Amino acid sequence: MEFEELYQEVILDHSRRPRNFGELPDADIHVHANNPMCGDDVTVHVKFAADGGLDSVFFSGNGCSICMASASMMTQKLKKKSHAESMELMRKFHEMLTAAQESEPDKRLGDLQLLKGVRKFPLRVKCATLAWHALEEALDKPLEKGASLSIEDEKD
Ligand code: ZN
Repeated sequence: MEFEELYQEVILDHSRRPRNFGELPDADIHVHANNPMCGDDVTVHVKFAADGGLDSVFFSGNGCSICMASASMMTQKLKKKSHAESMELMRKFHEMLTAAQESEPDKRLGDLQLLKGVRKFPLRVKCATLAWHALEEALDKPLEKGASLSIEDEKD
């Protein structure tokens, strides 16, 4: 299958049937983020593991297909990851989309590598990174039980 076809198929599948979608009743933290440029509006719900890593990650809200697909794939990729692994994968994902120099994405990103083409469309990069910024904010504040945060659209 051609890269473009695979990209379309995976994005459509995740945006139509987002995984880990909905509110996580026993979440430790909820982080809301929005992207007014596109109208994407998501909340990431995180349950931490005892060691500060991620037990489960859910998301709710509405967004364009790139936003929904990226958030859906993120929740699958990062659940059960340690704090350090999560930070590393986030860094790799941002690097893939925003580094000045294009390079081969890290293989550990799995299907998320399919989003690499988004780097050519700066306005859509915000769609792809929105849920990631929310999760990053949550990881900055592990084990603040029940916290509910909101981040402004400020980073890339
Ligand atoms: Zn969008």
